[in-house]
Amino acid sequence: TNTAAASEQTDGFHLVVDALKHNDIDTIYGLVGIPITDLARLAQAEGMRFIGFRHEQHAGNAAAIAGYMTQKPGICLTVSAPGFLNGLTALANATTNCFPMILISGSSEREIVDLQQGDYEEMDQLNAAKPYAKASYRINKAEDIGIGVARAIRAAVSGRPGGVYLDLPAQLLAQVIDAEHGRRSLVKVVDAAPRQIPAPDSVQRALSLLQGAKKPLILLGKGAAYAQADAAIRALVEESGIPYLPMSMAKGLLPDTHEQSASAARSYVLAEADVVMLIGARLNWLLAHGKGKTWGSPKQFIQIDISPTEIDSNVAIAAPVIGDIGSCVTALLDGIRASAQGKPDPAWTGAIAERKDKNLTKMAGMLAQNPSPMNFHSALRSIRDVLKTRPDINVVNEGANTLDFARSIIDMYEPRKRFDSGTWGIMGIGMGFAIGAAVTSGKPVVAIEGDSAFGFSGMELETICRYELPVTTIIFNNNGVYRGTDVNPTGGKDVAPTVFVKNARYDKMIEAFGGVGYHVTTPEEMTRALTEAIAAGKPALINAVIDETAGTESGRLTNLNPSTAGKK
Ligand code: ADP
Repeated sequence: TNTAAASEQTDGFHLVVDALKHNDIDTIYGLVGIPITDLARLAQAEGMRFIGFRHEQHAGNAAAIAGYMTQKPGICLTVSAPGFLNGLTALANATTNCFPMILISGSSEREIVDLQQGDYEEMDQLNAAKPYAKASYRINKAEDIGIGVARAIRAAVSGRPGGVYLDLPAQLLAQVIDAEHGRRSLVKVVDAAPRQIPAPDSVQRALSLLQGAKKPLILLGKGAAYAQADAAIRALVEESGIPYLPMSMAKGLLPDTHEQSASAARSYVLAEADVVMLIGARLNWLLAHGKGKTWGSPKQFIQIDISPTEIDSNVAIAAPVIGDIGSCVTALLDGIRASAQGKPDPAWTGAIAERKDKNLTKMAGMLAQNPSPMNFHSALRSIRDVLKTRPDINVVNEGANTLDFARSIIDMYEPRKRFDSGTWGIMGIGMGFAIGAAVTSGKPVVAIEGDSAFGFSGMELETICRYELPVTTIIFNNNGVYRGTDVNPTGGKDVAPTVFVKNARYDKMIEAFGGVGYHVTTPEEMTRALTEAIAAGKPALINAVIDETAGTESGRLTNLNPSTAGKK
């Protein structure tokens, strides 16, 4: 038996799967091909879930959203060169959004790539990935797979989370080593994202600033949702009595119906507040860079973030608090409790309540209208009312107008249930996020999609049907990008750049793969279709006919379009 044990061997394929499983990673999102097909087969044979996609970008997006939901890196597996590049879009998006994921790509032979001798799918992937990833590594020796995977996991989740690229040359996968040596080379990551306790004086500085505030405001970003410090954040908001604004993916961290939510008075509070506490939110374009008209009167910022270089990125931060959000919020809460600080001035909270009432009444009026064909409001009213009965449902949302309207009309009640265009404001995350959210949570997903946004990932309907995922996709179909009314000014036969096939039946697409399609033209039909689709828990698509004149160019981002000065 001694000789049998001594001759037992393993290889790179097995060690990669062993290393992932050793770190409790149980799912891979990917697309097979040379040289990683056997890796996917082996992962499945060894009890991991392998979710196969039709395009790597969506596998990568699924992995990224799984990482955001679980604080464990989502894994995306691709082939070399083009497959890698498709996955790289998702990796870059994950890094931008601070989602932890690992893109693992097979690559071709180093000696040929490095001499540029023209290998099958030749590409220097490691260097191509570097500018778009938080870290990039290549493993060249089978005995390094354990430490390489451990390094990738830690890089993805520690500090500010992000995307990590892991390059696996084909030769590595086939490399054979002694099995016992292989087993001993595996590394279990201990405390992958250690707590980072804020410096006491930084907490004190923030508390003093809050104490002097007349019109304080808390801004919750998706970093706060990611941190899974839900109870501490809720206690901080409620015990301080400070009004708060959630960024779009922080919606539901506290229920949107919370009386301290200032969402319905957003522009008022941003302009009027004197001390603003950012919790896991960056002062990027989504917050008008912390300056200008949006921010009105001068203000002082407290910023809680794990990344020290985020501070002073756009405007001066009076009180930076650096650490993990759970530890920082807990320290602030302790300070607030100790100081027995009173609630904010009722003049401030009263003025906010008044604005909210006014805006909510105005919105209710718009939502009550019943135009034919439907507009964004009447369709979303139905969706809102159905979703209200199912707070556990995951919502994916993208589009221009569809994103803007749904964000403000659809209330969220639970943390980490809303997944959207994020930091880049991109289109194309839809079906990838929907699949990742369904697989990760085991709960239904409703993807509210503009017809244009859906197009980027539409083929993944087949993936949704193949795995029988409880995903209902709703297409806001207004015949084009932004809307369907543009005409070609030359009178030529090509349609305008923004226009699609008129009256397209997206519901027929899902039927091709065995899913259920609905075609709805009224709010009542929408209510019925969505209720039925959610109850069935099966793949479904609702083609919602929206007035093609409804919708504005780029939604609320019209101001970002450069305008042409030249006139012929
Ligand atoms: P939003 O788009 O919702 O405003 P951002 O993605 O701009 O949110 O900001 C998230 C911020 O949260 C990033 O600056 C990131 O460094 C920070 N962050 C992420 N996770 C944590 C954490 N666990 N603790 C502290 N800060 C975090």
